[in-house]
Amino acid sequence: MLEKKKILPVLVTNGRKLSNINFFRKIVNAGISDITISLKAFDAVSYDKFLPGAGEKVFSEIKTAVQNAKIIGVGVNISVTLFRETINSIDNLKNILMELNPNSISIDMGNPIVDQNGVKAIDLLNPIELAKTVEKIHLKLKDTDLNYSFYLTIPLCLIDNGVLNDLFERGRVLTTCHVAKGSGLVFTHDGHVILCNHFTSKPIGQFGVDFSNVQELHGFWVTEQMEKLRSCCSCYPHNKCKECDMWDKCGGGCFLKWFHWNPEEFIR
Ligand code: SF4
Ligand code: SF4
Repeated sequence: MLEKKKILPVLVTNGRKLSNINFFRKIVNAGISDITISLKAFDAVSYDKFLPGAGEKVFSEIKTAVQNAKIIGVGVNISVTLFRETINSIDNLKNILMELNPNSISIDMGNPIVDQNGVKAIDLLNPIELAKTVEKIHLKLKDTDLNYSFYLTIPLCLIDNGVLNDLFERGRVLTTCHVAKGSGLVFTHDGHVILCNHFTSKPIGQFGVDFSNVQELHGFWVTEQMEKLRSCCSCYPHNKCKECDMWDKCGGGCFLKWFHWNPEEFIR
C-alpha cells in the first residue's frame, strides 16, 4: 500500500535484530531499504553501561548487522548522537566507524527533551562543548574515506571559522530543522501531532479532534495559531543573530537548547 502511494518507509533501529540475516532479508523484501542504525556507544565496555552485562553481545550484534547489510546489498546509515561521554571516546568512535565502514554516517548534536516535568538535558554537552567536539571529530575523520556529515543544531559562530568553512566546502554539514519552517509533520503512534520527537508529551494537535482528513489537516497546519507557534520557534536567540549573515544557514541552533542554556552566555 505504501509503495502505491509512493511513501518510503525508513527504519531507525539499535541494529540488534538485524544481526539475524533471515530477519534482515524479510525486512528488505517487505520494502524497507532505508535503514539507520543508531550507535549508542563506541565500544563494548561503554555499551555495558546501557545494558549491564550485555555490552560485548550488543556490540557484536551491531557489527554483524552492518556485515549483513553488505551481504544483502542494502546501504546502511550509522547515526551517532554526541553526548558527554563522546568527549573522551573520539578515538573509539573513529575506530568503530572505520571498522563498520557504513554507506553514510550522520552525527547529531544531543538536544534537550521536553516532557510533562519540564526540560531535560541529562548528559548533554553544552553548545560550546558541542562545537569543540565537532571540530575534534572532523579533524579525526576528514582524511578518511568515511562518508560523514554533521547535523549542526548549534550556533555556527561557535565553531572555528576554518573548520566551519572546510565542513561546508566538503559538503559535510546539514543545518536548521523543519520545526520553524513547518516543512515536516511528526505523528505519534496514537495520532497526535508533535513539533518534533523531542516533544513527545506536548502534542499540538490530534487526529479526530483537530482534523480527520488531509484537507482538514492542511487547514489546521496553516491556522494563525500554528503560524504563531512556528514564529515563536524561529525567534532570534540573541541580538547578534538579527544582523548575522549566517542566520538563514544557522537559525541560532535548536531553539530547545535555549530552554536550558542562556544564549547570552554562548553566542558571541
Ligand atoms: S545566527 Fe546567531 S547563532 Fe547563528 S552564527 Fe549568527 S550570531 Fe551565531
Ligand atoms: S527543534 Fe529541531 S533541531 Fe531541535 S530537536 Fe527538534 S527537530 Fe531537532
